[in-house]
Amino acid sequence: MAILKCRACNFSNLKRFLELGNIPPVNAFIDEKDIKNEKFYPLNLSYCSNCLLVQIEEVVNPDELFSNYLHLSSGSQSNINHLQEVADVIKNKYTIDKSTKILEIGSNDGTLLEFLKNHGFQVLGIDPAKNLIEISAHKGVETLPIFFNTKSATEIENSKGKFNLVVALNVIPHTPEVVDLLKGVRQILAEKGTLIMEGAYAIETILKGEFDTIYHEHVYSFSLHSLINTFRLAGLKIIDVEKISTQGGSLRIFAQDEFCASKVSNSVRNLLDEEKKIGLNNSKIYDSVDHKVKQFKDNLNKLIKSEKILAGKSLVGIGAPARGVVILNYCSIGTEDISYIIDDTPLKQGKVSPGTHIPIRSWEELNKNPSKSFILLSWNYKNHLIDRLKKQIPSARIIVPFPRLGVESFD
Ligand SMILES: [Zn+2]
Repeated sequence: MAILKCRACNFSNLKRFLELGNIPPVNAFIDEKDIKNEKFYPLNLSYCSNCLLVQIEEVVNPDELFSNYLHLSSGSQSNINHLQEVADVIKNKYTIDKSTKILEIGSNDGTLLEFLKNHGFQVLGIDPAKNLIEISAHKGVETLPIFFNTKSATEIENSKGKFNLVVALNVIPHTPEVVDLLKGVRQILAEKGTLIMEGAYAIETILKGEFDTIYHEHVYSFSLHSLINTFRLAGLKIIDVEKISTQGGSLRIFAQDEFCASKVSNSVRNLLDEEKKIGLNNSKIYDSVDHKVKQFKDNLNKLIKSEKILAGKSLVGIGAPARGVVILNYCSIGTEDISYIIDDTPLKQGKVSPGTHIPIRSWEELNKNPSKSFILLSWNYKNHLIDRLKKQIPSARIIVPFPRLGVESFD
């Protein structure tokens, strides 16, 4: 069902600025035999002229998206490194004490919580993906297979008490009922407790034309302006913000209950000023996105065509992340352009990519079906993946879609 009102502030003047067409859920990798049952949903993007929150208009039932989740936190070394860094930030910023309790919302396979447990914290995970519970249990991380909201917050509080830290990495942008989730966080935080969240930063992603962070799982793209407005609706105050490089550009936010919040760091005022300067509250910045995205599609298809002619055959994809699935679907890139995609995630291997049906293989496949021409779908892990490719093959040409579309090569 399409919405007419802002999901956060309820204001009814949403402005559509991008249409990506009908796209399947980006983590719904399927067996070839199930292609005929595949579901597609419209993907249109609007912003709220009241609170500036960028949001998709039509959400897919979260049960369908998250109950059997194929994206593993431990699926890539770069992501593991990032989670180790988050654990170290937490360790250095907060006093370690066996009584310090940390709750992670969207704890996935327990990778971050295992690091935090090893640092001496008491940890609890929340994640609706039933297929991941066993993996995290194996790491000694208790996980409740539920969605986090005010209702489940009450249940958790009754059985486990309150928490000093709540961590939510790339999960708040995925939650349609975002204000309810944030109210649940406020409820479960101990006095002076802190919420740490991370999410893709609209200004460094979609508003630059990097549309590949837009998918059904990803209901919102935040700016600091829209985050402050949304958090305020749940009684939370943002006290510190950092820009980080994950997801092609993200924000890391620290927030507390507005009634007992610490002093707000200068970082918050500085970033708000920066966003105003960029023109975040002016419709021009949104109106320019559609043209940038269409231009990208044309240019990418031309580049694929010329690289195919040069290679004399179709390309091989590197990485099958959600963002890659968006690029493939929006730009109509299928098996005639890419013969297979290599990806480390065992749960994706042997299946085909959602919508475009390109087979997913392990890196081993490169030995059996070698190639010299590639397209990097996990472009946010470029250096790591190109280094890895160099170890396996002597020379290659690689299309890199973002942040600037082009071809890189080595020999
Ligand atoms: Zn709004």
